[in-house]
Amino acid sequence: MNKSGAVLVLSGPSGAGKSSLLNKIIDDIGECYFSISTTTRPIRTGEEEGVHYHFVSVEEFKQDIEDNNFLEYALVHGNYYGTSIKPVRKALSDGKLVLFDIDVQGNTAVNNRLGDITTSVFITPPTLSELKKRLAGRSTDSQEVMDGRLKMAKREIQRISEYDFLIINDDLQRAANLLRQIAITARMKTPNNEINDFVQKWEDIEQ
Ligand code: 5GP
Repeated sequence: MNKSGAVLVLSGPSGAGKSSLLNKIIDDIGECYFSISTTTRPIRTGEEEGVHYHFVSVEEFKQDIEDNNFLEYALVHGNYYGTSIKPVRKALSDGKLVLFDIDVQGNTAVNNRLGDITTSVFITPPTLSELKKRLAGRSTDSQEVMDGRLKMAKREIQRISEYDFLIINDDLQRAANLLRQIAITARMKTPNNEINDFVQKWEDIEQ
């Protein structure tokens, strides 16, 4: 296993099936840690504090920003979302594969800070009309929130080329198999420090 841990970023519109896919593969990919984000958005029915998110006030979130507690944070659909740095650092030093469900802004930030150990995957339903259908089926959101999500999905789709992999989730089993293979490979990514150590040793042997 990769001693210094690795990162797998999952992005994609709400309704792409990220959580269902993760649930399907989580037991197969070994030692991993799912990063629980902090958010200022209101808790939804069925969600639990500390399981789906840490739900905080805008004031608390801003204090965390000031205290440099976030690896990255972003404003999404008018609410703040952020990744706490401490548990991620701990999981990485334990050699775990750290899983993030974050948006495209978060992917850019994580790649800027941890690019050499990061693999990124964009997950999407096959078409915009399929996404509309899935969001409508959820019925947890108002029309206004749903319109916002669709608008954001259209914007995010334009940035898929920033990701290492695209998974079109038209068949849950097929998509899960793909994600499983990507996750297993993600933890094998060789970090810069290991490459540098190897190059150094290799040169020494040559002398
Ligand atoms: P939702 O409100 O539907 O749970 O999430 C809305 C969006 O926020 C999703 O695209 C999700 O990936 C993104 N998101 C959740 N947590 C974070 C985070 O910590 N950082 C960033 N940048 N995006 C996040």
